[in-house]
Amino acid sequence: MSKKVIIIGGGIIGLCSAYYLQKEGHQVTIIDKSDFTSGASYVNAGFITPSHFIPLASPGMITKGIKWMFNSASPFYVKPRLDIDFIKWTWAFKKSSTVAKVEKAIPIIKDINLYSRDLYEDIKTSNDFNFHYERKGLLMCYKSDKVGEEEWKIGKQGIKEGLGVKNLTKKEVDKLEPNANLNIKGAVYFDSDAHMTPTDFMP
Ligand SMILES: Cc1cc2nc3c(=O)[nH]c(=O)nc-3n(C[C@H](O)[C@H](O)[C@H](O)COP(=O)(O)OP(=O)(O)OC[C@H]3O[C@@H](n4cnc5c(N)ncnc54)[C@H](O)[C@@H]3O)c2cc1C
Repeated sequence: MSKKVIIIGGGIIGLCSAYYLQKEGHQVTIIDKSDFTSGASYVNAGFITPSHFIPLASPGMITKGIKWMFNSASPFYVKPRLDIDFIKWTWAFKKSSTVAKVEKAIPIIKDINLYSRDLYEDIKTSNDFNFHYERKGLLMCYKSDKVGEEEWKIGKQGIKEGLGVKNLTKKEVDKLEPNANLNIKGAVYFDSDAHMTPTDFMP
């Protein structure tokens, strides 16, 4: 039965929900407080990353998070404030940041990310609208052996989860990206990843 649906917020989540609801025959209206171009979905980097399967709530994040919290340009800026909701949230985040919870979350996040990538491909091949999308994988480049080892540890975890991952030397990266001329030691290559242009995808 067709329903009337109102979606508040026309970021990627609102728009994609509207797209699939409409395909199922529902009447959808999106309400946004802006002209759809002010949200994170319009300005983000466009990476579609099954490789990013480690949850944010992981051991060590609280220490890093406290440093990041005071920097509004950091990837994890949460305006610090003295209210009960913020303290409750911080406590719940800390309780979730355990090795056991991270291990449990990894296959779920990886599956959601793969499913999400497949949905981009579904929309792309439907030809309902045109947008830039490429599936070429992702290079996580490193300049030091220490960072290389950390990145390869994630890479090996990716292989365990069924992803295609290789640890490439600089020479191999140069062969893959001959025009990039990168000052690196090497890179971990995840072949599962894709990228698109957000300003192309969004209205
Ligand atoms: C710099 C940056 C880079 C990023 N890079 C990546 C990346 O490479 N890959 C990736 O997967 N993710 C990336 N992200 C994260 C990603 O952009 C977000 O997770 C995603 O866009 C969130 O989508 P959304 O629809 O939930 O929210 P938004 O895109 O923020 O959309 C929310 C919409 O709701 C509207 N709204 C808010 N409040 C109201 C209200 N009260 N009434 C009406 N409308 C309202 C806003 O105007 C906005 O249009 C990045 C984020 C940032 C900031």
